[in-house]
Amino acid sequence: MPLSCPECDAFALSGGTNTLICTACNAQIEANFLPLFLISGASGTGKSTLVCHLRPLLPDCVVVGGDLLVDVTNRDHQSFLGRWLRIAYAAAQSGHPIVIAGVIEKTELDAHVDRSLVGRIHVIGLHTSEEVRVARLQARPRWAKHSAEKRAAKIAEHVNFAKRVAEDAELLVDTTENTVENIAQEVAAWIQQRVFSAMPSKAPAG
Ligand SMILES: [Zn+2]
Repeated sequence: MPLSCPECDAFALSGGTNTLICTACNAQIEANFLPLFLISGASGTGKSTLVCHLRPLLPDCVVVGGDLLVDVTNRDHQSFLGRWLRIAYAAAQSGHPIVIAGVIEKTELDAHVDRSLVGRIHVIGLHTSEEVRVARLQARPRWAKHSAEKRAAKIAEHVNFAKRVAEDAELLVDTTENTVENIAQEVAAWIQQRVFSAMPSKAPAG
């Protein structure tokens, strides 16, 4: 869905190269396209815990859990992805790259109609041994409500998801035995390096 044009008010503004272009009035609006960082991993790989530890290490970034924009009254996945691309675009206009930790895949963002609202998409994959991951899932209260069949189906679904994450990831972090503090340091440093290349003004002084 295109954004609204500040010149003519039509919802006809979509991403071009370094600008947004209005297909109704041909206005070209300057915009900031920053990288979007996706921390992806199957349920139980430690995404939510990592978010809390990353925030203080990445004060220039907006670090959020992907569930934030889940709307239980509208499960349409394309609108869910579109909301994230718009939030990322909006954060970039204030100079903040976004880091989203969730069950979101790069390929589905790349294929989205609003893909051009953000810059490069980087994927950090979290990986955990199957035993540890299943044990973490089973410790969740929500998990106990599922039938044995549903649990088995969910585990299978996430095994496949974990494979795709490993393929997409530029940085793959094994969370099986590492502490969350160490993982947060590694991930934050990796992200910061790429933020500096995209926004040289964010390089540390000295
Ligand atoms: Zn316009």
